[in-house]
Parts: sequence; structure tokens; C-alpha cells
Amino acid sequence: MTPNPPLNLLILGGSSEASDLARRIAPDPRYAATLSFAGRTRNPILPPIPCRIGGFGGAHGLAAYLRDHAIDALIDATHPFAARITANAAQAAAITATPLLRIDRPAWQPVAADRWIELPTMAAAAAAIGPTPRRVFLTIGQQDLAPFRATPRHHYLIRSIDPPDPDLIPPDATLITARGPFDEEAERTLLRAHRIDILVTKNAGAAATEAKLAAARSLALPVIMIARPPTPPVDRVETVTAALDWLARLHDAATPRGV
Ligand code: NAP
Repeated sequence: MTPNPPLNLLILGGSSEASDLARRIAPDPRYAATLSFAGRTRNPILPPIPCRIGGFGGAHGLAAYLRDHAIDALIDATHPFAARITANAAQAAAITATPLLRIDRPAWQPVAADRWIELPTMAAAAAAIGPTPRRVFLTIGQQDLAPFRATPRHHYLIRSIDPPDPDLIPPDATLITARGPFDEEAERTLLRAHRIDILVTKNAGAAATEAKLAAARSLALPVIMIARPPTPPVDRVETVTAALDWLARLHDAATPRGV
């Protein structure tokens, strides 16, 4: 009996999980996958599978792509704060009856010595830094800086993968471009060198960027932690390994017995 053709997958990327999944399925003959990037990072690290870059034109554009490319399953491995594409993925999968899996890494949880202030938005974070000028470490990416322009009394140390749009940068700012992983000792050295009073970060949950939280804890610094946006109720797993199990089950269900 001729084996089934490989499952045709679209992976929505922009996270370490998406790239890891792409690397792990690349040599697997059960799958033919394309990894999609939004195009925000100038030099994304491209894994060894076909990649496409750029938006689809909303949920209906993504639905059209799923149909036109005969996609058998959609994997939403986008960043936990990429709420629009995650909503579009759920809608497009529903329109086209395409199986959809969301990879959602666990959020960071505070431990006893942490001084977290959990807030829902960047605007709330900017306001919560308070009236006294502070030295603030912003590790929130390059897209969400605008609210901090409205609180120009603080000094900001801004770390992002690519330099932010100059129009978004608050007046008193130091920029660092760097890509994780970061280690705790180096993070502590950075916090001390810049005399940081407070950190602002999104609850990304990534191991590669977690060290700043341990460094802040060890220096008893407060951390403003932006909570994750809500996501649609779809099938979800926390790890790439669990996603591979889900895909293997989907593949087996599509394969006739004896193949
Ligand atoms: P978003 O607000 O949810 O999405 C905005 C639009 O960008 C979407 O409507 C879609 O355009 C396009 N898009 C997003 N992800 C895409 C993908 N993987 N492939 C093709 N188009 C995509 O997303 P965002 O917060 O701007 O994040 C953009 C990308 O950066 C995502 O891939 C995300 O995984 C990654 N990222 C985000 C953050 C963050 O903090 N938000 C952090 C690290 C990495 P159309 O509607 O035209 O399809």
C-alpha cells in the first residue's frame, strides 16, 4: 500500500517554540510544514523548512491561505502577547474546519521573595511607576513603548532584539539590542550598572528571558508584570514535545491501517 502523503502544516511563528517545532519536524517524512513570520524582526533565525514572511490580511485572508495551500493542520505557536493573530487563527480554523493547536508555554509565577505588581496593560504600567523619577528597565519588546513617552520623568533602559522606532522612544532612554538567552549573573550586573529601581516586563514565560526575574529578586527590586491577554478556547499544549504527540495522533488518524 502506498503511504499517505505527508500532513501539510502551517506553523504560525515568532516564538522559540515555533522555531524548535520547525527544526524537530524538518527531517520527519510524516510532515511538510511552512513556518510563517509576521516580519517584525529584521534578521529572524530561519529554521530548515520553507518559510513565508508577512501578514495574511486578517482571519479571512488566513482562511484563504489555508484553503489555497490545502493545509491539513494549523499550529499557532505565536508569542503569548500576539493576541490578534491568535484570534485570527481560531477564526480561520473554524471557517475552514482545519484542526488547530495552540502552543502556550506556561506563564511565569511569582515566588516568595518576588515583589511583583501585576497589571493588565502597558498604560497601567507607565502610570504605576509613580510621580518620583525612577530608573526603569523595560524589556517589553519594541512595539509597546508609546505609553512610556507619556511619563518622560523617568530614565528608561530599553532592551529589544532590533532598535525601536525612534518615534516611540521616551526622551531619557538608553537602548540595548540583544537577543536571549540571558543569564542571571549578567542580568544582575546590568541592573546594578544602570542603577535600576524597577523592571517592567510582559509575562512571556520564556526560559530564555527568565533570568532577569531571578536577578531582580536577588536585588529586591520591584517588577511590574503585564498579564497575558485572553486567548480563544482552542486545543492547546504547553510544550513542543506535546505538540509533536498531537501531530503524531493526527497523522495516525489520517493514515489507513497497515501503512
Ligand atoms: P499580533 O498583534 O497578534 O498580530 C498583528 C498582525 O501581524 C496579525 O493580524 C497578522 O497580520 C500579522 N502576524 C502576526 N503573527 C504572524 C505570523 N506568525 N505570520 C504572519 N502574520 C502574522 O502580533 P504582534 O504582537 O504584532 O507579534 C508579531 C509577531 O511577533 C508574532 O509572530 C509573534 O509571535 C512575535 N512576537 C510578539 C511578541 C509580543 O510581545 N507581541 C514578542 C515576541 C515575538 P494579518 O492580520 O495581516 O494576517
